[in-house]
Amino acid sequence: MSPSSLLPSHITLGILGGGQLGRMSAVAAVRLGIGVVIFCPEKDCPASYAAKETIAADYNDESALRDFSAKTDVISYEFENIPVETIEYLEFLKPGSVLPERSLLDVSQDRIKEKSFLNEHDIETVRWKTVSSLEDVEATCKEWGSKHFVIKTTRFGYDGKGQIKGECSDILDNRELIAFMENAKDQALIMEEFSAFDYEVSVIVARDKFGKTEFYGPMLNEHKNHILHTTTVPCGSSTGVIAQSRDIAERIANAVNLVGVLTIEFFVCNSDTLLVNEIAPRTHNSGHWSIDACAVSQFENHIRCVCGLNVGAPRRHSDAVMLNLIGNDIREIDDYLTRESACIHLYGKKDIKEGRKMGHITTLRNKT
Ligand code: AMP
Repeated sequence: MSPSSLLPSHITLGILGGGQLGRMSAVAAVRLGIGVVIFCPEKDCPASYAAKETIAADYNDESALRDFSAKTDVISYEFENIPVETIEYLEFLKPGSVLPERSLLDVSQDRIKEKSFLNEHDIETVRWKTVSSLEDVEATCKEWGSKHFVIKTTRFGYDGKGQIKGECSDILDNRELIAFMENAKDQALIMEEFSAFDYEVSVIVARDKFGKTEFYGPMLNEHKNHILHTTTVPCGSSTGVIAQSRDIAERIANAVNLVGVLTIEFFVCNSDTLLVNEIAPRTHNSGHWSIDACAVSQFENHIRCVCGLNVGAPRRHSDAVMLNLIGNDIREIDDYLTRESACIHLYGKKDIKEGRKMGHITTLRNKT
């Protein structure tokens, strides 16, 4: 039976991945009466605490995937680096059961496919080129006449991992760059012009199976050591930037026939030029504030859309600042526990590691 013909309480949702995004999605599903089965390699993962069952197996374990498919009506994923073969197998077992659709995952897993897709849809990005050697990097610098660039692996990069910034005037003496190119010599690499952006924003679009869309943001994102540090809403952008960012988000959502939630990260340059940096076919760290500041959070809307329910109007009732607790930041928890208007979310991770997202705090303010 398709999920739409079921009452929410009759639906079982499968989530591939067991991190904090899976955990907050599972909490939202449970609030709607939807049961959740998590599939991830570790039994004791953050999402498992909110699920009725966790299947702990590798993503290529066909017998475990068959069990997962049999126990669920619809399946979504909480991060984009799930192997495409896993999605293909689940789709083979139950056609139409995985949302958002595989093609979107395919595009967002690979920076070259992603930027090609965006440019083909007349959506601006930084200038970019595929490179495989220092000579390619030098030639591209000359062609662009640029000062700085970033080189990124095309797959599996996140939070600044798998990327290096360089100066066009100092390519052959840059030891880190030489080592990076040497280590990555068997992989495809993308070279991007370094954008001297004014600031970074993101927009989250939720689209249901009827094609209706709702938006979160744009929100202002500030990073520390390439990891999101704070997100602020409202972002303070002009009405032009707000409208343009939502328009781009809607165009991408319609182009891929999105059912679920999609995040678009932008660089805002020269006050009102928007360049898309990245898209993620999922809920996003920059939307966590919506749990506490909206009637319907990004997580609930993702669940609603993939389960065949109507998308809800977010209806933000408060301004908000979301602060990530990274690594040792969690040791300050006693202080946050005494603060007014601080909504505390901890992910249940037992080991503190540098750069690891342990939780977040959303501080609410009266809406301006
Ligand atoms: P990414 O993994 O592509 O999302 O990059 C992580 C962060 O690095 C971005 O949010 C930016 O702050 C910065 N960054 C990435 N690419 C560029 C670029 N081409 N120009 C300037 N900053 C960049």
